[in-house]
Amino acid sequence: MEDLEARAWFANRIEEAGLFVHDDDAGNLSGILHAADPDARTLIVGSHLDTVLNAGRFDGAVGILAGLEVLRTVQDAGLNLPLHLEVLDFTDDEGTWHPMFGSRCLTGQIKPDYLREANGHASAFRAALIRAGINPEHVARARRDPATVAGYIELHVEQGGRLEQMDLDIGVVTGIVGRSAYKMTFRGQAGHAGTASMYGRRDALQAAARFVSWAHEMVIEEFSEGMLNCSNLEVEPGMLTIIPSEARVTLECRHVDEHNLADLESALVALADDCAAACGLTVDCKRINRIEAAAMAHQITAAIEESCQHLQVAHVRLPSYASHNGQVMSAFTPSGMFFIPSVGGLSHNPAEYSHWEDVVTGTNVLLHAVLNLAQ
Ligand SMILES: [Zn+2]
Repeated sequence: MEDLEARAWFANRIEEAGLFVHDDDAGNLSGILHAADPDARTLIVGSHLDTVLNAGRFDGAVGILAGLEVLRTVQDAGLNLPLHLEVLDFTDDEGTWHPMFGSRCLTGQIKPDYLREANGHASAFRAALIRAGINPEHVARARRDPATVAGYIELHVEQGGRLEQMDLDIGVVTGIVGRSAYKMTFRGQAGHAGTASMYGRRDALQAAARFVSWAHEMVIEEFSEGMLNCSNLEVEPGMLTIIPSEARVTLECRHVDEHNLADLESALVALADDCAAACGLTVDCKRINRIEAAAMAHQITAAIEESCQHLQVAHVRLPSYASHNGQVMSAFTPSGMFFIPSVGGLSHNPAEYSHWEDVVTGTNVLLHAVLNLAQ
C-alpha cells in the first residue's frame, strides 16, 4: 500500500516537472526527458522506491529523487543532449517475491511462466501485482532492446560505514558482490546419549559445529574480501537423550570477484566434506541460490570519477557487498553506481540517515556524470 502511494507521489512529481511519465508491463515507473532526436538511445538513472519492512527513508529513494532532480536541472538549463534521460523506479528491488524483479523483467531475465509457480509466496506476489494494476502474465513484455539503451547509472546510500570511517564523500563502486547460498546436511547416526561410548559417536551436530567455526576462520584467513554468514542450524531429532542424527546448516557466502567466489564455494564444500569425514559422517551440500558477481563498466565509473574530480569531491573506489539493480543491469548495458555516506553505517532501520550536504554532493556528482556520459 505504501509502495503504491510512493509510486503515485513520484508520478505526480514527474508530471509536475513537465517530464514524460512512463510505466512498463512489470510496473517499472519512470520519468523521461526526451532528446530532440526520437531515435536517440536512453541513459537510465535508476534506483527503487520500495523498502524492506521497518526501513529507513534513504535506501533507494534518494537515488530516485536525485535522478529526478538531475532531469529537472538539465531541462531547466535548456540543454539539448543527444540521449533521452530516464529516471526509473524498479519494481520490487527488495524482493518481496524476487529481488530486483523490475530490472530482471526489463533485461529479459524473467521467463514468462515464472509467475505461474503455485507456491504461496508466488501467489501472494501475483496478488500484489494485480493490486498494482500489473498483469502477471505480461511482465516479460517489459523487456527492452539493449540497442536502445546507452547505459545505467545509480546513486545509492552506502548502507555501511566505510566512507564515514575514511571521511570521504563518494564511493565509486567497482563491482557488486556475487552471492551463493547453500544448505549443508550432515548425516550421522542417532544413539543413546548415555549408553553409547563418547568415543566414535557419529554425531551430526559436532561436525556441523566444527564446520561453522572453521569456515569462518578459513574465510578470514584465506579470502580477504570474502564474506560468510551461517544463518541457521536445524538439528534432528533435537532430543536431550539422543545423539543428533542430522544437522542442517544454511549459509551464504559473498565475493566481489566471480572467480574468487567460485573458489570460496569449492573451499566451503571441501571443508564440509573434511568435517563430515572427521566425524565419520556424510554431508550433502546443496546450492540453493546463486547471483553472479558483476563488474561495473569502465566508462561509467570513469564518468563518475571525472565528475568527482571536476567538483573536487573526495572519493574512493570500493566494492559493494549489497546487491543492487546495477548487478542485473550490468549484463544488459554498461552500468555503474556510486555511494554517498550512511551515518553510522546504518541501513534497513528507521534510523538510517545521510546528511543533506552529502545528498546534495551526490546529486551534483550524478548530474555531472550524466552530462559526461551524454557527450
Ligand atoms: Zn537499495
